[in-house]
Amino acid sequence: MTICIFCEIINKRYESSIIYEDDLSIGFMTLEPVNPGHVLLMPKAHYEDIFVAPQDEISRLIPIANSIALSLKKIFQPPKIGMVTASIVVPHAHWHITPIYSPEDITCRAEFEGTMQAASRSELNAIAKNIREVMLSV
Ligand SMILES: [Zn+2]
Repeated sequence: MTICIFCEIINKRYESSIIYEDDLSIGFMTLEPVNPGHVLLMPKAHYEDIFVAPQDEISRLIPIANSIALSLKKIFQPPKIGMVTASIVVPHAHWHITPIYSPEDITCRAEFEGTMQAASRSELNAIAKNIREVMLSV
């Protein structure tokens, strides 16, 4: 069986910069952000994508996504916040939530072209801490 990197993160076998966690869901900074503040939000249970996951598990993510989006808006003040699901690289249901500054930011072009660039753990941890703090106030 192929190892799922998100399940490894959920089970704390891989380091991540967590911004939100409860019994059923988790949000953390992606390693290769489109822009600073690029978050992944997902159910902890492994489903191949959002569309085959139980809809109650996906629905409960909406208010969490809203809180993350409002926090990103407050911190980064981008023109828009985008949210997309595709499960292209990691087949574990998840949403990307990110500040967007141009239409290219919300496409998967960089992912398909392999031009995503990794951020440093210290940068991701600092942004995650900021988001966690702001999420408490929005
Ligand atoms: Zn998984």
